[in-house]
Amino acid sequence: MTNALFLDDSYMKDCDATVVSVKDDKYVVLDRTIFYPKGGGQPHDVGKILKGKDEFQVVYVGKFSGEISHEVDHPGLTSNDQVHCILDWDRRYRLMRSHTASHILASILWKDAGALITGNQLEIDKVRFDFSLENFDREIFQTFISKANELFKKDVPVLWYELPREEALKIPGVIKMSEAFPPEVSRLRIVEIAGVDKQADGGTHLKNLKEVGQIEFLKAENKGKNNRRVYFRLIP
Ligand SMILES: [Zn+2]
Repeated sequence: MTNALFLDDSYMKDCDATVVSVKDDKYVVLDRTIFYPKGGGQPHDVGKILKGKDEFQVVYVGKFSGEISHEVDHPGLTSNDQVHCILDWDRRYRLMRSHTASHILASILWKDAGALITGNQLEIDKVRFDFSLENFDREIFQTFISKANELFKKDVPVLWYELPREEALKIPGVIKMSEAFPPEVSRLRIVEIAGVDKQADGGTHLKNLKEVGQIEFLKAENKGKNNRRVYFRLIP
């Protein structure tokens, strides 16, 4: 199993690694990685893998049969190669800001409106939220955005740690997204925004709420009875 360094330290921008296997000249498994694989509503990272002077662009990262696979743009990597990984940090950091912001918004929707989040997708330039709520209008959502922005001005630490499944599931609202945590998962990773929210999550987050900056409401769509879709984005 690849050591997923981003789960412990989401601020690691580069690392050394050893190539474990290469499939079809382009799907690379490493012994350790800083590259987040697409999943849980968070897009995959991009960046590069260096072998000496040879530079391989990482164009896609996914999880296949439990292994993190890095797709590179050209052949040349083989097992046991010593490589250096470099993350496209600007892209990742924006995604971290969006992801932590999403947890706050999900928390407000759940606490203030009793809305259940049915989908959440981070994109590079915006964030999509789907939730079920009978009474919805733009002004109400705008007040949630304002409330979130007030929180983003505060110095609030964000922590992550694992808990045994049973203990984790006792936390009210710990699973707000429709993401499934199959029974064979015995320990859940909890992302805790101190005093504000706890959520089971496998993504990369900021260390402090302040780093989000501010967000703005982009647009809302009706997707049928009680189904709402809204977009927000980071203000650069
Ligand atoms: Zn999340």
